[in-house]
Amino acid sequence: MVIGILKEPNDKRVSLVPSTLKKTKFDGVEFWIEKDAGAAASYPDEVYEKYAIIKDRTSILKEADILVTINPIPKKDIPKVKKNALLVALFSPYTNKEIISEVKSSGLRAVSLNLIPRTTIAQTMDILSSMAAISGYKAVLLAANESPRFFPMMITAAGSIKPCKVLVLGAGVAGLQAIATARRLGAMVEAFDVRAAAKEEVESLGAKFVEVPGAIDKKDAGGYAVEQTKEFMENQQLQVQHRASKSDVVITTAQIMGKKAPILLTKETVSKMKPGSIVIDLAASTGGNCELTENNKTILYNGIKIIGNSHLAAEMPKDASFFYSNNVASYLKQIVKNGEIDLDMENIIIHKTLIT
Ligand code: NAD
Repeated sequence: MVIGILKEPNDKRVSLVPSTLKKTKFDGVEFWIEKDAGAAASYPDEVYEKYAIIKDRTSILKEADILVTINPIPKKDIPKVKKNALLVALFSPYTNKEIISEVKSSGLRAVSLNLIPRTTIAQTMDILSSMAAISGYKAVLLAANESPRFFPMMITAAGSIKPCKVLVLGAGVAGLQAIATARRLGAMVEAFDVRAAAKEEVESLGAKFVEVPGAIDKKDAGGYAVEQTKEFMENQQLQVQHRASKSDVVITTAQIMGKKAPILLTKETVSKMKPGSIVIDLAASTGGNCELTENNKTILYNGIKIIGNSHLAAEMPKDASFFYSNNVASYLKQIVKNGEIDLDMENIIIHKTLIT
């Protein structure tokens, strides 16, 4: 059996890195990798040679039994894939319906790694958390770079500078990493979340947790937040407005699994923010937490810069690939048995992730 690793178009990351291949051995299975697939992530072909066979794209598409990628393979490649092959990628099935129907109608099988359940046993496969941690870190570095202000307090002969105020909306994996990074840079940080469990985590990082009464917090939602009432959202938007008007940077990360992201930062709120402030919206791909966000764009509104980018993890390609690779190898161990693909539907991880 052949497991194929393809070069990602428009993404510097690679789905499997040499150190993972070194420790992931399946009897009767060969890894094939497309020429230069890891080059943009600083993993040149030479370091793969011991663990994988370097091939051209067409051969891999034609012969691989499992194709491992990060992004779904482009539409134009689908007809070239071996019959009955299994595609393993982040298909984002809630937002990417078109590619899923393409895959279905071509008779291929596909698993979406976005759907891995958040259970203890699946923790080593939790790609969403791996990528979110990088995005949260990168969001703060990007904000610090774009901001016209220092993050730390400065007392100098030329005058004193107050620390930068950072507001984080959504204190999940990305939000907590953003809080930790902003604190390390010396900023004062406040954060909102609807899950009660987030309070302790936020406070343990030295940030202030802003509570809005009346949040619906369902413990059985698998670690995810649920949609809130209209009354709560209005109340929260008012509280956010009060904090945002005093902040230099707002980082938004709030998402609801399978639904559009909640609007936390209204146009009215942005118009009350200070000129030079920065908004980084990590929820841009699911609609954004800021009413003015445009996905994959940076816009200026009254002197406020709003950056809509849900793919910041791809901008740290070496470590992002390392995390993705280890997570995906852990998933492959669930589905490769005795040199063959074994999709045991009794296995909850396989059952939840198989989309076609
Ligand atoms: P996410 O990306 O789905 O959402 C980001 C954050 O936004 C969440 O903390 C969510 O509560 C928050 N949010 C949603 N609506 C909001 C609103 N209206 N206002 C304010 N905040 C809002 O979530 P995530 O970061 O992927 O994970 C959330 C949590 O899941 C983690 O912090 C963790 O506790 C848990 N988790 C568990 C496991 C596991 O058990 N294996 C793995 C990963 C995460």
